[in-house]
Amino acid sequence: MKAQIKAAGYIRVSTAIQVTEGESLDTQKLQIIDFIKQKGWELTKIYSDEGLSGTKAESRPQLQQLRSDARDKQFNIIVFTKLSRFARNAREYMNLAYELEQNGVQLASVKENIDPTTQTGKMITGILALFAEWEHETIREQMYENKMIRWRSNRTFIGKPPFGYKWNKEKKELEVVPNEEAIYHEIVKMYCEQGLAMRDIAIKLNERGLKCKRAVWNSGVVSYILKNPCYYGHYVVNQFVYVDGIKGAGTKRTKIRKKESEAIIFPIRAIVTKPEWDKIQETTQFRKIIPKHTGKDTMESFLRSVLICDKCGSRMNVRIGSKRKDGSVNRYYVCYYAGTSKKSIESKRQKCDLPYIKATEIERTVWANVMSHFLMDDPEKKFGHLFDSEKNENSILNFKNSILKWEADLTSKNRERERLFNGLSREDTNTNELWEKLRKNMDEILYIEGRLKEAKNELSKFEEAQKRQKEIYEFYKKNERGFETIYNQIDKLDFPDRKLFVEAMLDGPVRVGYKYKDNKYPECPSYATTKLKIKFNPEILQRLTNEGKIKLNINSSDHHTSPDTRGSS
Ligand SMILES: [Zn+2]
Repeated sequence: MKAQIKAAGYIRVSTAIQVTEGESLDTQKLQIIDFIKQKGWELTKIYSDEGLSGTKAESRPQLQQLRSDARDKQFNIIVFTKLSRFARNAREYMNLAYELEQNGVQLASVKENIDPTTQTGKMITGILALFAEWEHETIREQMYENKMIRWRSNRTFIGKPPFGYKWNKEKKELEVVPNEEAIYHEIVKMYCEQGLAMRDIAIKLNERGLKCKRAVWNSGVVSYILKNPCYYGHYVVNQFVYVDGIKGAGTKRTKIRKKESEAIIFPIRAIVTKPEWDKIQETTQFRKIIPKHTGKDTMESFLRSVLICDKCGSRMNVRIGSKRKDGSVNRYYVCYYAGTSKKSIESKRQKCDLPYIKATEIERTVWANVMSHFLMDDPEKKFGHLFDSEKNENSILNFKNSILKWEADLTSKNRERERLFNGLSREDTNTNELWEKLRKNMDEILYIEGRLKEAKNELSKFEEAQKRQKEIYEFYKKNERGFETIYNQIDKLDFPDRKLFVEAMLDGPVRVGYKYKDNKYPECPSYATTKLKIKFNPEILQRLTNEGKIKLNINSSDHHTSPDTRGSS
């Protein structure tokens, strides 16, 4: 019988999260046992660090035990429920993974479904290790989880209280701000009774120099206030999660509704009755302006919130042409100031002469640009900041230089010692003085040898790191196929996800310009131009994976490569 894969489990739980988040030691234990059983491995032992507030590796005794047992080759694989249980951040993960690998121990994760005995598993391990941004996310998540616990028990308030309220830290409750309450009633009056448009209400409030939570009023804010059920005491929080969209001029984070069970109802004092509030809602429903084109055509225009006119710097709208006989329409992106809308005339601004841009044309360009990021034509360029080979090279050079220096010093001190020894045999020598010099020389030699050893250690560490970087690079080169699979899945995303994806991958708005026919070369057509910056955003991949929209682990023709896996029967 060939050797079976021996797997150890590792679990960690902090007291704060244990109860609420369903990640108790027992849950984790069961998940690990299941996972190991399913893989047909042999469970050796489960190591558990419980109730420790510090998550640093050094302060987790069982992790230390695990590392030491790994050195003793007591198992081949360590299984944990999710990455963040095992390592605090990507760097720590990389370090631990590297150290363990030296002892022939690999890592497996239940949640991320990382199985190092498969090709895909290896690839995912690599991807995850490279996602340094993940580190950032984990920290944020941990902080958020801790806050959530306090929030659920109404002991804290996250974010801004709604207009009209403030958080009383001592009493730990939301209390009404009297003058803001008055403004609320005024808004309701202006809207329901005076029939003012939300925009006009905002203008009036701004004219009076009033502030809404330190910001200026606009129709969005007024609308939000009018529709918020908190004013009849029904304050629902934690309904949304914000996903980073593109940054820069006028772009926002995307708001996504969470599972209903996650919502928290916060006790709050009502300032209108439920029937009064219902009345307001009726009015907003009635006066809602229904846009001419809603639904499919606008939805399809997935660049609608990221385009900026390169001529005048303003946002661009979607415009849908009239319907043709076959039911199809032409879609355009149009500079906000290109049209003759009431707003743009009112603003007395000069009309912008950016032509209407055919939507399909610009969408194709932007999409191709974003997607090119997933073709591994040049991994070093994409993940350059993670490779950072220059820093390594500099360190290697520095250590090599200091090694040379210490070696030279050592040679001269050895020569000195020789001279001193020779002196001992001469008759006219002051022996005491000579012994003193010899002792000093010995001390110096010991010191230099120490420094030399240190420098050599450091050098080999950096050389090792450089070698590792090269390996990672090679890894990407080899796994081009895997990235292609991701590419193909993303390329098939439907429109809402496509919009989300593009927004997440952009590092700033897309500026749209126009190139006119050249007089010199009249045969060249006019066309739209784009300027865009793209960043690699692993969070969006993670999210789409979690939602089942894409699968990182789809390679069903996975062939097991580790020789150990074959002998499991
Ligand atoms: Zn413009």
